[in-house]
Amino acid sequence: MTRLHLQPERHLVSRIGWLRAAVLGANDGIVSTASLIIGVAAAAAKPADILVAGAAGLVAGAMSMAAGEYVSVSSQSDTEEADLARERAELAGNSDAEVNELAGIYVKRGVDPATADTVARQLMAKDALGAHAHDELGISEMTTARPIQAAFTSAATFTAGAALPLGIVILVPGHLLVPVEAIASLLFLALLGSVGARAGGAPVWAATVRVTFWGALAMALTAGIGKMVGTVV
Ligand SMILES: [Zn+2]
Repeated sequence: MTRLHLQPERHLVSRIGWLRAAVLGANDGIVSTASLIIGVAAAAAKPADILVAGAAGLVAGAMSMAAGEYVSVSSQSDTEEADLARERAELAGNSDAEVNELAGIYVKRGVDPATADTVARQLMAKDALGAHAHDELGISEMTTARPIQAAFTSAATFTAGAALPLGIVILVPGHLLVPVEAIASLLFLALLGSVGARAGGAPVWAATVRVTFWGALAMALTAGIGKMVGTVV
């Protein structure tokens, strides 16, 4: 999650952090697992081998998503902690300078100096660190980085996404697998793209076309490589 600037549509913005992670995780799960299955199937593998490859891909992908998200969100969280520690020290050191600093931020945003000074003093009397964190550093409860939560969300949504193309391997007979897998996975992707865009208040068509295009490209590439390698070995 990034540090979001405050916008009037706060209820939408507050959803974007986890929504982005969830859609991205499920999207990755579908694209990478479907591509893997199509690539292995195109190399003329046996159904049991395709299933093993798909299941291994699901576990590897979920762990990789969780680790990646944990590392990236942790480093953001460390940066926030360091910023807050510095701010805490500044507040303890020179309280007057900090009042002026906060008031200056409000003046820049259009508040007159006398009012800005009053607002800064009143906010700091209640929660000085909170006021500086929010208006100076852009850190609020809503945008605080949460590594464990981010890692879990990514792994869970990747697994949910990967389960769809994997389920097709179990349900569809071998000779139909490649076309059914490709079409069904693209439909899942399109559906996910439109649901994600709708929930986030973004343009639906653009998002749907975007995810479907990248999914189709990934599957076409792995199908080609699978066929090539399958012919060689
Ligand atoms: Zn400050």
